[in-house]
Amino acid sequence: MAKRPSKHLRPPRPLTVGAFARSEQKQDGAWMVQAMAADSATKTYRCPGCSRSVGPGVAHVVAWPRQASIGSVSGVDERRHWHTACWSNRP
Ligand SMILES: [Zn+2]
Repeated sequence: MAKRPSKHLRPPRPLTVGAFARSEQKQDGAWMVQAMAADSATKTYRCPGCSRSVGPGVAHVVAWPRQASIGSVSGVDERRHWHTACWSNRP
């Protein structure tokens, strides 16, 4: 019988990337943007907009280029977590 990994060792609920994403046009191209609810935010991220941290329990947005960069399989792999306001202020 295969040994199943402990529930506690499993990573948290995977981010359902893309399922609720919307497309947004920014100065540097098209981006996919997905809102992260406060209860989905379980880690601390670095916001590229203000270089401050986005802590657990903070609702924010995840953004990735619609067109993957050269050498990248998917734009989703390049996703970044932004404060909602920082993303809105991005030109
Ligand atoms: Zn920020």
